[in-house]
Amino acid sequence: MPSSELFKSRDGTEFRLLPVPFCEYCSMPLSESFGVWGRCWRCNKRFREITRGNPFEVPDSPYKFRKAAAAGLYITDYPEKGSIGRLIKAIKTGGGGCDVLSEAIAHVLRTRYADISWDIIVHVPASPGKKISPAGRLALALAKETRTAVASVLELDPSYESDQGLPEAQKFDNMRDKVRVASSAEIVGRKILLVDDVMTTRGSAHWCSEELLKAGAIGVNVAVAGRSVDMRDLEFIGYAGPL
Ligand SMILES: [Zn+2]
Repeated sequence: MPSSELFKSRDGTEFRLLPVPFCEYCSMPLSESFGVWGRCWRCNKRFREITRGNPFEVPDSPYKFRKAAAAGLYITDYPEKGSIGRLIKAIKTGGGGCDVLSEAIAHVLRTRYADISWDIIVHVPASPGKKISPAGRLALALAKETRTAVASVLELDPSYESDQGLPEAQKFDNMRDKVRVASSAEIVGRKILLVDDVMTTRGSAHWCSEELLKAGAIGVNVAVAGRSVDMRDLEFIGYAGPL
């Protein structure tokens, strides 16, 4: 049975870390049998589409980012059910939560993703017209926690609209051709840790990473607070533990 570890922050806040096993490319929790393989069926499908070959022979991620690390689960249909959901809601509405979540992300990067290193943190951009996003707030807290710097270099085209309400199939491409690097000086030749609050389709991470690489970054890994799943996903993998 997949299982989840309790995380306790310095200020005493407790929540459940992402259950083990999980897909190391997108942090989707996996059933025990898929855990042996190390990759979820969605990532595998994308490997196949992109390579048109035998997925077992593909050496690395099908996305422009390499790996995506998530601290915990974000239960899309019942956010209040998950212990991390309340904290993510708090950063979305401008409240607290950033310090605890960044502490948990740093913990997960250190203990579960020792192969991820970075020179600078970049965050997924705020919606047009907004100065700071939940991702931006989280990036600042994570930078403080890990003693690294943030470069807020990504920006969205004014025509960008949120993917809420879009059909599932179009969500992945919603940020395609809508995101760009405003100035590349801070990222050329550097390894990037791309930060967002929640990862759902992986589209934002993918298209942001593509722009960062085009602008001269030498590699992108992703870190998020919550991996979005719904209750059906958890039933499907046989996870019945605490959330
Ligand atoms: Zn995956």
